Amino acid sequence: MPEQTLEALPIGSIPALGEVPKAMRAYVIRKERFGEPLKAFQEEVIPTWEVGSGEVLVQVMAVGVNFNGVWAGLGEPVDVMRYTKLDSHVAGSDASGVVWAVGPGAEGVKVGDEVVLHCNHLLRPGASDAQLIWGYETSHGSFGQFTKVQAQQCLPKPKDLSWEEAASYGLTFYTAHRMLVDKARVQPGEDVLVWGGAGGLGVFAVQLTKIMGGRAIAVVSSEEKAKLAMSLGAFGTINRRDFPELQYLDGMTPEEEEAHLAAVKAFGKRIWKILGERKGPDVVFEHVGKATFRASVFLADPHGRIVICGATTGYDLSFDVRHLWMKRKRIIGSHFANAQSCDRANRLVIQHQIRPVMTRLFTWKELPLAHQLMYENKLHGTVACLVGSPMPGLRNLDEVRKVTEGQTHGQ
Ligand code: NAP
Repeated sequence: MPEQTLEALPIGSIPALGEVPKAMRAYVIRKERFGEPLKAFQEEVIPTWEVGSGEVLVQVMAVGVNFNGVWAGLGEPVDVMRYTKLDSHVAGSDASGVVWAVGPGAEGVKVGDEVVLHCNHLLRPGASDAQLIWGYETSHGSFGQFTKVQAQQCLPKPKDLSWEEAASYGLTFYTAHRMLVDKARVQPGEDVLVWGGAGGLGVFAVQLTKIMGGRAIAVVSSEEKAKLAMSLGAFGTINRRDFPELQYLDGMTPEEEEAHLAAVKAFGKRIWKILGERKGPDVVFEHVGKATFRASVFLADPHGRIVICGATTGYDLSFDVRHLWMKRKRIIGSHFANAQSCDRANRLVIQHQIRPVMTRLFTWKELPLAHQLMYENKLHGTVACLVGSPMPGLRNLDEVRKVTEGQTHGQ
């Protein structure tokens, strides 16, 4: 049970550089409150993490909100505490902050470094594929005043971004980058169908396709989202609400099945219209899962690739495999990214080739609400939440100090 006697600094204030308080505030998920985010995420005061070999303690300035937190709170499709063997879980797989303490053997970072964090936690030093997702499969994620990461998870914070913008993009951007650059290997002149083209992954898939010389068709569910996708460089958009029977559902009647197939074909014709030729997308960017995967396999052009990293609507997928083998299509699985790939992607942000798309900023108290809205598909782009940074727009520790000292003097 939480140690109620511990005391922690208020949110928005930070100790002297390198001074580590005994306790910190954090949002803690516990098995007995698994459920929708508003129920699952509750603030507690817990002991500050102790850093071990190769680890780093980071003063969190802002956090990004993504679906990992939703899944962790739901306890479905897996109970994350099965991985950690603990009875509590601090989620959060995105943050910007300052290195506050460095464990023995932690290389490449020092106290005071301003960083963004990627979430590939290696199971052993140098492992290439044995990874855990920090803040999902580990219990010490970013939703606290401090977080504990491996030194290799620290990347340079783009200097001109605010703490909240810097916290907003990592997980989704690095995942989209891995899918399109390293896995599907989009080539100049190729066409990419991006489901959820204004969602967390989608806003980066659209931008990446453009800078790789391809054409992105963004699927969206509102005009506002269509505008956002076009502003990011989409070649065209399709509002999926125009095709109500497009969604694949379990247990469809033969009539519903027929209507579904007709909707998929009509959707394909809309793609031809946008592209100005009778061809399908060379790459389909998948993460929706059950509802769209059947259409994705059908719609991909012969020799096309369907690259998939998630299944928001269900992971038990159904599709007509004849379209796969007869047309020599490929399905490619992808899961987050390795450190090298994250570093290459982060450089694109530093070089201003990719921009974060933070559409909404939440307060610390609103962090459960931010997850709830994400769960209900009521957000677009990416969203963030302030933790140690006392106000929006601050970009480095000096600017934070000036504000907090000003507040102290004004009291
Ligand atoms: P998000 O910001 O909520 O965006 C998802 C988008 O999916 C929404 O904007 C929505 O767009 C679209 N969508 C939702 N229901 C749909 C449906 N029934 N049919 C068609 N489109 C639908 O989430 P995200 O951050 O992009 O993440 C998406 C999924 O990928 C999540 O399940 C997440 O866990 C997973 N993921 C996996 C990894 C990995 O490394 N394996 C990394 C990141 C994310 P419209 O309503 O506008 O169409």
